[in-house]
Amino acid sequence: MKSRSKKKDFQDERRARRTLAARSRVRSRCYFCEKKMEPDYRQDEILIRFLTKRGKIRPRTRSGLCSRHQRAIAKEIKRGRNLGLLPFRIVA
Ligand SMILES: [Zn+2]
Repeated sequence: MKSRSKKKDFQDERRARRTLAARSRVRSRCYFCEKKMEPDYRQDEILIRFLTKRGKIRPRTRSGLCSRHQRAIAKEIKRGRNLGLLPFRIVA
């Protein structure tokens, strides 16, 4: 009997590993959905959590927000920046 190709084995292994990882991972929840609130430019102490060390907006893969709230937070951060509540950048 012909054994399966190496590539196929590799794909199977990868799939198995991914599903295992997905199962064990704690599902990241959106901060705003969980708290049942909307991002607001006046809450700068909350918005600052979604900035990187350099003052950039945290990407959605790092922020863990849903797409709706990621969009909303980007808008509110930009609003806050223009009002001087949040930094445009943080120079180390
Ligand atoms: Zn959300």
